[in-house]
Parts: sequence; C-alpha cells; structure tokens
Amino acid sequence: MDKQMENITIAGAGPVGALLAVMLARQGYRVDLFESRADSRKANIYQGKSINLALSDRGWLALEAVGVGDTIREHAIPMYCRVMHDTQGQLTRLPYGQDEQAIWSVSRAGINEQLISLAEQEPLINIHFEHRLAELDFDSLEARFSTKDSGLVTHNSDLLFGADGTFSKVRRLAQELPRQRISHSLEYMPQSYIELTIEPNADGSHKMEKNALHIWPRKAFMLIALPNTDGSFTCTLFLDQEGDTSFESLDSEEKVTAFFEQNFTDALPLLSNPVDAFMSKAASPLCLVHIYPWVFNNKVGLIGDAAHAMVPFYGQGMNCGFEDCRVLSELVAQHEGNWESILAAYQRERKPNGDAIIELAKRNFVEMSDLSGDSNFLLRKKIEQQ
Ligand code: FAD
Repeated sequence: MDKQMENITIAGAGPVGALLAVMLARQGYRVDLFESRADSRKANIYQGKSINLALSDRGWLALEAVGVGDTIREHAIPMYCRVMHDTQGQLTRLPYGQDEQAIWSVSRAGINEQLISLAEQEPLINIHFEHRLAELDFDSLEARFSTKDSGLVTHNSDLLFGADGTFSKVRRLAQELPRQRISHSLEYMPQSYIELTIEPNADGSHKMEKNALHIWPRKAFMLIALPNTDGSFTCTLFLDQEGDTSFESLDSEEKVTAFFEQNFTDALPLLSNPVDAFMSKAASPLCLVHIYPWVFNNKVGLIGDAAHAMVPFYGQGMNCGFEDCRVLSELVAQHEGNWESILAAYQRERKPNGDAIIELAKRNFVEMSDLSGDSNFLLRKKIEQQ
C-alpha cells in the first residue's frame, strides 16, 4: 500500500484515540477521528464528574514521544506516597519509591482535552464530534456513524482502530462476524464506585496532604482520594454492588450516615455532602474485558480499553492504552508501513501484556483495600524500600 494513500479511521476520541491519532498523523497518515460525544471543551459533557487518574512512567513515556510531557506535567500533581487513614483517623505514610519517584494525579478531562487540542493542530487529522459508530463492514471498511443532524453518515478508509472504550462498538461488531474464531468476555466486578469531593480551603489550599494518594482501606471496600490542582480532591468510594455492606444495602440516609461515621471518621467532615451524594448518585460498574484476536481482517484493530478494560486498582488502564499507542507507533516505523506485519506484531506484543496487567490490577484490590491497612504488610514494604 502506498503510505500516502492510507486513510485511517479511529472510533473514539478518548485519551487513547486522541494520542493514537497524533502518533499516526506524525507518521504521514490521514486520520479521521470520530467521537460519539460533543466536544468537552465547548459543552459540559461530564455532568459534574471530575475523574482524575494516576499517570505513571509507561504513560509519560508515550506522552514524551509526542512532546507533550511538559505541558501535561504543568497540570499534574506528583504523589510521592500513599497515605493510609485508619478508622481512628491515624495516618501511615508509604513512599512509592526512592529519590522523589512519584505517580502523578491528572484530570481525565484535562488530559483528554489537551490531546484533542494537539490532534487539532495536526494538518492530517480531521476530528468529527457527535459521530457515533453504528455499523462497520469489516471487508470494505465502510463505516456508518449516527449524527444528531445528518442521520447516518458513511465514511471509507483503509484501516480502522476501535479506541471506543470498555463497551466498544467495534469489538461488539467484530464478535458478530461469521467464520471468525473470537474468544471474548466482559466480567463485572463485585464492586461499583461513586465519586465524592473534598473542596479546597477558602484560600485555595488542599485540606489534606497534597502530594499523596490517600487511602481509607476497609478490607471489603475502600475510599481513595487524589489531589486536583484547584485545591480539591476527587474521592472514589469502591463498595460491593450487592450484599451485606453494599450500595444496595445502604438504602437510607441513616444507614449511609452511620456507614461514613464508622468507617471514614476523619474524611467525613472534609467531604462535601457525602450522604446526599451517595443517595443521589447511581454507582458505576467496574468491568474486565478480554478478547482475542485484537485484529480482524488485517485492517481493524482494537486499542486501549476496547481491547483490555481493567479495574482501576492498579492505576494502569490509561497508562497501558498509551503504551499500546507508543508500541504501535514504533512498529509502524520498524515495519515501514506494512500494516499486515504491523498489526500482527502489535497483537503479538501487546495482548500478553494486556492480560498480565488486567490480572495485576484485579489482585491489587486486596493490596489497596486490605493489606495497605495491615501493619505487618506496611512494615515489610518499608523494609523492602530501605
Ligand atoms: P475511554 O476513555 O473510554 O474513551 C473512549 C471514547 O470513545 C469515549 O470518548 C467515548 O465517548 C467514545 N466512544 C464510545 N463509543 C463510541 C462509538 N460507538 N463511536 C464513537 N466514539 C465512541 N487509568 C489509569 O491509567 N490510571 C488511573 O489512575 C485510573 N483510574 C481510574 C479510575 C476509575 C474510577 C476508572 C473508572 C478508570 C480509571 N482508569 C485509570 C482507567 C482509564 O480511565 C481508562 O483506561 C482510559 O480512560 C481508557 O481510555 P480509552 O481512550 O481507551 O477509552
């Protein structure tokens, strides 16, 4: 295939789709990036949600590759340690590493918008907001997108990537293909989550130690908090969806108040209306996605959460998706634009890594919610770090 003749479609302009678009355009490909939602820089699509994420080395490496590491670092907060809060409000601090090693708290919306703005500057990229992939012919690569104003619109290309997240339409359409051997699973975890907020002090400062990831480990459930640059913390409560102490069982203001008083003594006065938030918010599910293959007909590939959605307990979902992009981009250069070999090598290299990190993330719930509150475990970790 002539490199200049190749048009690439990416479904999904989340962090992974946006970064992938930039990397491919920088290698000379024409990229059409389709996003089902409106442009978040112009419309409030997050409905008050302020998800923040931990960015670690594998994520930074990919961002540095497109030269946006420094810009993103300006809006990120280094977290040098985890701070565990016990039921009495006593704190234990455990560094993440040595020599100021840190993971970084970034806003998901912020990093996504920065990557979309970067993509917009690339002459070879066209971004189409409010275009939801609805149909795809895996042979001709004719794709149909539903739009608000123009109904279904058709777009043709030579290659297509599904970067459309946990419930990927590309993946679901691939699963319906005849004569393909596709193994797939989507597993719901017992836990769901809601987000809560700790607002800044009146002077804009943080109400708890700023450069830390805070954890209230309570074995079967936990609360965590990551700092934001405006002085607030975004907190996430992970709790079983059903069972004895769960989103379903805590069904009155009295029960929820008692739950917070018993378990999150020191957080309770800091949180903004946690009981109201708990009662009014629908808890979001957590899912694991496995699929093989990641590549169909040598011209459709899955990337990011579409290929390997995982639980957030290892803080690696987006980092891992960014690593997919970096590795893919390196393979494009190595295989000189031969997409059959690029996609085969991408799948060979990334699928085992995706599986491994899904498993590690799942296991890390026990470390975060249980072991991190265990004094023997903390002592062992501290000794290991010396
Ligand atoms: P998404 O972010 O899901 O983006 C997919 C995009 O595709 C969306 O914009 C969506 O609107 C669009 N789309 C969907 N369907 C279509 C369609 N049919 N047509 C067109 N567009 C479509 N990761 C970390 O690395 N560190 C963390 O600390 C971390 N913490 C997390 C905490 C929580 C509570 C959760 C839920 C996740 C966390 N993650 C974390 C995971 C991280 O959010 C995801 O891995 C990351 O967002 C995946 O990016 P993506 O671009 O692959 O998918």
